[in-house]
Amino acid sequence: MEKCLFCRIIKKEMESHILYEDDDILAFKDVNPQAPVHLLIIPKKHIPGVTELEEEDKELIGKICLVAKRIAREQSVYQCGFRLVVNSGPDAGQAVQHLHFHLLGGRKLGWPPG
Ligand code: AMP
Ligand code: ZN
Repeated sequence: MEKCLFCRIIKKEMESHILYEDDDILAFKDVNPQAPVHLLIIPKKHIPGVTELEEEDKELIGKICLVAKRIAREQSVYQCGFRLVVNSGPDAGQAVQHLHFHLLGGRKLGWPPG
């Protein structure tokens, strides 16, 4: 069985609440939501994180941002605002080593993050 948690979600070996899926991207609800809207948008390609991104991933990352925009609209946070966050490495608290964009919204979000 696949070791990476998010690769298992992609392969449907693990349950998740999926909100968007295409050939390259999956978006699903975060299991421990930090805001009324908290989703994770991930590439289906296993990329451990931002530091492993390559030139060839440019288009994929652009597509993820456009999916985020679409989901923000569907989740009714497009107008009031939302946050798209990628944690990278230990100081940022990256817990899952498969690149993921958090989409957070539905409440006033503090800045700077703790
Ligand atoms: P990060 O700290 O940026 O690596 O974020 C990892 C995120 O994955 C956290 O917000 C977790 O709540 C979330 N998470 C962990 N396991 C699952 C899962 N099985 N389904 C959905 N989200 C998950
Ligand atoms: Zn993976």
